[in-house]
Amino acid sequence: MTLDIRKIRNDFPILSQTVHGKPLVYFDNAATTQKPTSVIEAEADVYRKFNSNIHRGVHHLSNVCTEAYEEVRKKVADFINAESKEEIIFTKGTTESVNLLSSSFGGSFLKEGDEVILTEMEHHSNIVPWQLLEKRQGIKVKVLPVSDKGELDVEAFKGLVSFRTKMVAVTHISNVMGTINPIREIIELAHLKDVPVMIDGAQAIHHVPVDVKSLDCDFYVFSGHKMYGPTGVGVLYGKRKWLKEIQPYQGGGEMIDKVAFSGTTYNDLPYKFEAGTPNYAGVIGMGAAIDYLLTNDRESIWSYEHELFEYALEKMKTIPGIRFIGEAENRTSVISFLLGNSHPFDVGTLLDKLGFALRTGHHCAQPLMDKMGIPGTVRASFAFYNSREEVDRLVEALNRVGAMLG
Ligand code: PMP
Repeated sequence: MTLDIRKIRNDFPILSQTVHGKPLVYFDNAATTQKPTSVIEAEADVYRKFNSNIHRGVHHLSNVCTEAYEEVRKKVADFINAESKEEIIFTKGTTESVNLLSSSFGGSFLKEGDEVILTEMEHHSNIVPWQLLEKRQGIKVKVLPVSDKGELDVEAFKGLVSFRTKMVAVTHISNVMGTINPIREIIELAHLKDVPVMIDGAQAIHHVPVDVKSLDCDFYVFSGHKMYGPTGVGVLYGKRKWLKEIQPYQGGGEMIDKVAFSGTTYNDLPYKFEAGTPNYAGVIGMGAAIDYLLTNDRESIWSYEHELFEYALEKMKTIPGIRFIGEAENRTSVISFLLGNSHPFDVGTLLDKLGFALRTGHHCAQPLMDKMGIPGTVRASFAFYNSREEVDRLVEALNRVGAMLG
């Protein structure tokens, strides 16, 4: 099925504006995606029609709101093919999901000398929470290196896993290079030694098929705002056997069974991990984003995005002085580059004046930048509302910018 990009673009009101007098070209989708009208309306409708705190009410509005919130839990479970909706924990986003996991899993199972394996291409949000555990509990973070092409070495991974390894946490797709990591092999290898694996799906959930049951990952985390949903909402998927065992992250209302000064007991899954009033409007908005994605044929979205990425790569190769950061065989959706000796910030600023939204900097992946020996990159990242014409315009603009900066 071919996608009607013109029609899809009409669903995203923000895209039709001009910036500095030029039509906006939004290529910063790895940072956050734009929202279709249906998502904006779904969130607004909560406040317009049935805003009420969830779970605790006996009254009509609270019941409507609770039902809408819990329906999304089921929707998310189906979306990633989880075994049950009890395995879906709503969080503020990927960052909070990783912090929840490191804190709760760490507090329950990790002790001094235990090791957690990360990779050199992780986003800071999948590095720093584990480093906090190093400080707090004396665990050790081990790092799987990235090759110059931007790939992980599965053989090296085998050598890194030992009887001390208690967790492997790896990104599905690199937010800098677009590398699609061999997570299925990594999960299989880790499981041979009974080590659980967390996958950071922030850049993957909307670009490739995600089936947690088939992957057999123990945890999978992602953010609503990267998949056309609202900000401030995300997901931690965890296998029930783990979620049942690990201690709660935060204490407060809703996560309890019975509170007493003589001792408190906790609520069942998933509520044990959802202390306080959640961002129910955001969750309901994320449900609308899933509905939106499902109204389009997902296979067509994935292949369109990948074709657009390959088209952009080929076209961008013609730009004088361009150097790509990350050239993995298996990659998608993100292109990081440098233009001659120009600073990424200068390139980004000039592009902005021409109406382009691209990100520049270290992309919250400083260890990867250090490895590559660069301070940062310019990053173009694509979504299915982007078009070939926009790519052509970017290539033309980059030629101009390159000539200007010399
Ligand atoms: N991991 C990856 C791979 C990401 O790209 C991002 C967002 N740039 C995050 C984690 C953090 O996501 P959030 O800021 O939504 O918590």
